[in-house]
Formats: sequence, structure tokens, C-alpha cells
Amino acid sequence: MVTAQYPLPVDDRHRKSFAKIATPDRLLLGPGPSNAHPTVLQALARTPVGHLDPLYIELMGEVQELLRYAWQTDNYLTLPMSGTGSAAMEATIANTVEPGDTVLVAVKGYFGLRLADMANRYRAKVKKLEKPWGQWFSLDELEAALIEYKPAILAIVHAETSTGVCQPMDGVGDLCRKHDCLLLLDTVTSLGGVPVYIDEWKVDLAYSCSQKGLSCPPGLGPFTMGSRAETKMKARTSKVPNWYLDVSLLNKYWGDDRIYHHTAPVNMNFGMREALRLLSEEGVGQAWARHRKNAEALWAGLESLGLSMHVPADRRLPTLTTVRIPEGVDGKAFSRHLLNQYGVEIGGGLGSLAGKIWRIGLMGYNSNPQNVNRLLNLFETELPRFGGYAASVA
Ligand code: PLP
Repeated sequence: MVTAQYPLPVDDRHRKSFAKIATPDRLLLGPGPSNAHPTVLQALARTPVGHLDPLYIELMGEVQELLRYAWQTDNYLTLPMSGTGSAAMEATIANTVEPGDTVLVAVKGYFGLRLADMANRYRAKVKKLEKPWGQWFSLDELEAALIEYKPAILAIVHAETSTGVCQPMDGVGDLCRKHDCLLLLDTVTSLGGVPVYIDEWKVDLAYSCSQKGLSCPPGLGPFTMGSRAETKMKARTSKVPNWYLDVSLLNKYWGDDRIYHHTAPVNMNFGMREALRLLSEEGVGQAWARHRKNAEALWAGLESLGLSMHVPADRRLPTLTTVRIPEGVDGKAFSRHLLNQYGVEIGGGLGSLAGKIWRIGLMGYNSNPQNVNRLLNLFETELPRFGGYAASVA
């Protein structure tokens, strides 16, 4: 036997020496991610345990139970997908859509378009019901489209992060039952911060993310599926075309069998468990009230500075406020200034709202009066340095 001569030769061209990571403590008041709660960060830093360790299995059950609480649902199939919100979004579609199914997507912003794109990739016949970005759908509009297209699924975004609009949900679930279709709801920017009642609203499929109202970093995508959606999934004539997101396979791990599917991101679930524990300690109703109160203070403060909101007060999201950039102000330069000089992040507009609005998030841990005051002070002192705004309020 020839013994290899270690060290073996290696190509060092990509070997670089970097300093240890030392990211600054930014205040994330954009559309997400938001700052994680300090005890969530501590939970993330625990030594990992095995993904089949009895301790971990118990923790998985706790995460599922607390997610049911956060979403106000009894759905058995409630679990965090390993991946961001988009993974959970794709899971709702991958498990229920069969080629040729009609999926009606009510599009009133960027994330509705993403849902339509995903459904299309799973070979659905996608029908889009569209509204300008900043508006929402009435029950009559939704019902007319349900009658016209007879979809198997109606997909809609509850809290449209690209516009700041909260879609009213009263009666939508009843309409879907009347017209025999499933209701799929995006709750990425609502879970934990805006009232969501999955069971009362008769929502069949929903998903969310870890990094907004739940005060956790990005990395998990909560997913929930009710019995009507489960029935459709079980009646499939073809396999779920996405192995990683196949809920029947995942449930062999998350359900009673505890069979390995993929190596769970255990530390992310430590963080999620702590984030959900905090939410339950506060009470989800209290968390919704806190978001509402802080958002109202932000709206009043911004309006007193002469700024206007993109969405009427009764349809505004408490988690994500869209503020119109005043004529003549370079919105990007202002947000860059806040980030570079003060370490505060706010977001800009997407798609048809690019350059027209700022997006301000007060989500989860970040929804507090100190952050509202900090941001209002910055708008008051810094914005007048940016172009037309000074002239308009002078
Ligand atoms: N849906 C909405 C409404 C969102 O705001 C986002 C992200 O911000 C997503 C879906 C996608 O989530 P993620 O970026 O975590 O994959």
C-alpha cells in the first residue's frame, strides 16, 4: 500500500484570509427581516442536539402547538418548513396543485405575482384577478371571478408587503366553500402582528415566515393545511413533484413515525420555539394590539411631518407602513443615509411603486414606542436635507 504524503497538494487560489465576522447592530425597520428578540438569538446559539434526539422531538411538538396558537387553528398539519417563507409558499402549491387545475390568484402586489408564477410552474391553469398596487378586493369582485373561472384554489395575500394593504378576510372563506374551491392565504407579514384566524376564516392552506412578526431570523417557513386541502392532496393522481416540500413525507418526521426526512435545522427551530414562546407569553391578542398602537403612533407622527400614507387608514397594515416619497426627494438617497449614518434600515418600493414609497416595518420585537420615536426623530431632522421635501414643508 502506498501511503499518501500529507499534506496533499491543493489549489490555494480561492483561499483568502478574512477577519472574524463583526456585523454591526442595525435597527431593521424595513419590510424584513426584522431584528430578532435577544432571547431568540440566545436560543439560536445553543449547542445543537441530534435531529432525532428525544429532547428535539419534544421541542418539535411544542413548535407545532405554538404555531397553531399563533395562527388560531387546530390544523394537525402545521409545521415549519426548512426554508424561508417562499419555501412554505411553494409547499402550499406543490402539495395541492395538479397539472391542469385552475388556480385563481388575486394579485394586488408583488407577492401575488410570485404565487401566480409558482402555480404556473406546477402546471396549473393560472387566472389572475388584478388590482392596482395599494388596493384590495371586495367580496363581490372575488365572487364574480370564482363564478367565471371555477378554480380549484383561490390564492390571496393577506398582508401585501409590497403595498402595505391588509386584505379584508370576512366572508372570503364562505365564498370559497360556496364555490367549492380551496382558500390559500399568504400570512407572511401578518402572523404575530395582525389578527389572523385561520379556522374562523375557513382558510385551507396558509404559510408565513420566521423573520417578521415572530421576531426570529429568516430561515423557517411556517406552513398549515386544513382537512379540505388534505383531502385534495390525498386524492392526487400524481406524486407531489417536489420531494423536499412533500408534506406527506415531512409528516412521517413531524408526525408519530419520526422517520428521517432531511436533517432538520435544529438551531433554527430552537429560535422558533423561543420566538413562539415569547408570543404565547405576551398573548397573541396583546401582540396584535401592540402592533396596532405603535403603528398608529407612527402614522400620526409621519402625517404631522407633512408626509402622506399610500393606503387609507382602515386598510393599512400595522406591521408595514407605506409612506409616499415627497415630490423632488431622492428616496433611495434618504434611506441610504439612514443606514450609513444611523444604522437604521427602511425599505423602498417594489415594481410599480419603486421610487414612489418607503416601506417601514414595525414587526415583532421591533414594534415598540422607542423605535417609533427614533424613526420619527430621524425623519424630522434628516429628511429636510433631501431635496424638494424641505421646500414643501418650509
Ligand atoms: N409573501 C410575502 C407577503 C412576503 O412579504 C414575502 C417576503 O417578504 C414572501 C412571501 C417570501 O418570503 P421569504 O422572502 O421569506 O422567502
